[in-house]
Amino acid sequence: MSLQNTRLIIFTDLDGCLLNKQDYDWSAARPTLERLRQLQIPVVMNSSKTVAEMTLLACELGLNRSTFICENGSVIRWGSDVADGPSVEVNSPYVEVVGSPRESILRLLAEVKTQFSFDSFADLGLSGVMAATQLSESRAQLALQRQGTEPLLWNDTEAKRIAFAHQLHLHDLTMTKGGRFWHVAGQSTKGKAMQMVTSRMAPRPASTLVAAIGDSPIDQSMLDIADVPIGIPTATGLAVTVCSEAGIVPLQQGSAGWAEAVSVLLRRMEFT
Ligand SMILES: [Mg+2]
Repeated sequence: MSLQNTRLIIFTDLDGCLLNKQDYDWSAARPTLERLRQLQIPVVMNSSKTVAEMTLLACELGLNRSTFICENGSVIRWGSDVADGPSVEVNSPYVEVVGSPRESILRLLAEVKTQFSFDSFADLGLSGVMAATQLSESRAQLALQRQGTEPLLWNDTEAKRIAFAHQLHLHDLTMTKGGRFWHVAGQSTKGKAMQMVTSRMAPRPASTLVAAIGDSPIDQSMLDIADVPIGIPTATGLAVTVCSEAGIVPLQQGSAGWAEAVSVLLRRMEFT
């Protein structure tokens, strides 16, 4: 890779990648994040979390002026790192819903509520979300501030779920399995949102190198179109496909694996 005049952009999932899965610790990645900041290499977080949750994290990670992607690609919080971007003030961030707005998802869910048995975040409310997720009250409040996706617990049969997914499909909505929750969303993916951000951050694609870091199948849409796909191993092995020759799979998991993989990339690009 020759790297003069090449602009590197790093997209990264959070849980199980930049943050450890169990304790959300990211101290192993701190020196590498600092190095990226010195080199002015953008780090774009791309996660299932909401804008409210990610804004808090962005402050902790020193990425509060950066663009980040929320709710699995449904929402983009543009930062001051895009060429024609706004100057981001903490109190007036520029947020774009690129998938289906949550209100239209909730409207459809209300319409079909009598036919199927499920509990969405809106049905559960604050106490129900706290009970289902083990989040604290303040964290659950942030998780409830959704704009382009709706998680739900499915309480009905698999046959009914397939019929439900078909109804969603007729309205251009999708249903994807997370951990305990199914996530109803528009046609957005992490990969599509990554492309939207890349095209604004890097007007000259030929001289841009995109790296994408993920650990679970929901990250695959990013890894499939990245120049450098990076798969972070999970406790049970690698859960994503890293098919490009340029791809990197570190030995370690979580934030230590994240730091290991990014260091390999920087060495390859002769930054170190
Ligand atoms: Mg993950």
